[in-house]
Amino acid sequence: MLIAIDGPSGAGKGTVARAISEALQCRHVDTGAMYRAVAWRAADLGVSLDDEPAVADVARAAALRAEQGRVEIDGHDVTRAIRTPEMDAAAARVARLGQVRQVLVERQRDYAASGDLVMEGRDIGTVVLPQADVKVYLDASPDERARRRAGDAAHAANGGDVATIASALAQRDHSDKSRTVSPLTLAPDAVYIDTTGLPIADVVDQVLALVRAAQARG
Ligand code: C5P
Repeated sequence: MLIAIDGPSGAGKGTVARAISEALQCRHVDTGAMYRAVAWRAADLGVSLDDEPAVADVARAAALRAEQGRVEIDGHDVTRAIRTPEMDAAAARVARLGQVRQVLVERQRDYAASGDLVMEGRDIGTVVLPQADVKVYLDASPDERARRRAGDAAHAANGGDVATIASALAQRDHSDKSRTVSPLTLAPDAVYIDTTGLPIADVVDQVLALVRAAQARG
């Protein structure tokens, strides 16, 4: 069973993907964390994000894991270090580089080749796993997404100011939706769920119902 969860930041992808992977006892792969880890490692090695082939080399050479909420690259545990406003922006820049996407998409498909998983990102249902059994696109209003990010304990302080966070999210949305390579878009066969005002448990129930329906179809 391959479950693809896409959508913009703050739509609840991480929380929902984690809950689904626990309910189904399968792996949870966070592809956003992979782009973040490559951005972190490039900065660590002094590689400019403008140098596409060099950043792609960093991605290609990296020992990288982004499973079950833990993120490691080349022996560094970057689980916390990649959740900062600077890394938000750096990851979105890295994600615009086609050569880097090629490397990371291949790694993401390798994960999927070894069995059941929930994979979250921006292009999972459209590009990485078009064959996924269940495809969900989670969304929420910009205000609600900014409030969730402000209250996200795993993400380093954004100054606590919801207006600043909302403006950074809007910039990142624009970058993710307008880029030429694999922009964030709704797959034609994805189920769109607006999570604004919905308790997360309800969203998880909706996704689990889709999984059961897919299992029943065989
Ligand atoms: O999901 P998260 O906010 O951690 O993702 C960080 C960035 O990585 C996003 O803003 C987006 O630019 C990029 N990304 C992507 N494709 C994915 C996952 C994330 O382009 N599948």
